[in-house]
Amino acid sequence: MSDCLFCAIVDGKLKANLVYQDDAVVAFKDIAPKAPVHILIIPRKHLVSVSDIAEHDRALIGQIFQVAAKLAREQGIAESGYRVVVNSGADAGQSVFHLHYHLLGGRQMSWPPG
Ligand code: 5GP
Ligand code: ZN
Repeated sequence: MSDCLFCAIVDGKLKANLVYQDDAVVAFKDIAPKAPVHILIIPRKHLVSVSDIAEHDRALIGQIFQVAAKLAREQGIAESGYRVVVNSGADAGQSVFHLHYHLLGGRQMSWPPG
């Protein structure tokens, strides 16, 4: 989609620190990390938010979580613990409107989130 920051990263038009890619999923380091490990995992396909996920996206969403678990192991946070977070919509604080999963870890986190 034109004018989408994360589509530009998928298309290689905007530089990012890629840590994983396959036929359907791309993962890269967040530009403003909120934890020692902060990776964004996105579908190549432009989906706006969780609300945009359809029945035919079920396998894709499963694949994203599988990539999250693999990256958590690779980043050394699988044992200590981590969060996989999706901000969906204005009240949640979503700022980039291409579905993305935050993988956060490497420090103690509080609950509930702010
Ligand atoms: P949201 O607030 O929508 O849940 O998360 C958007 C995330 O994208 C933020 O954590 C922000 O730091 C990150 N971000 C915004 N622009 C860029 C960019 O150009 N490159 C990368 N790597 N991350 C970005
Ligand atoms: Zn997009």
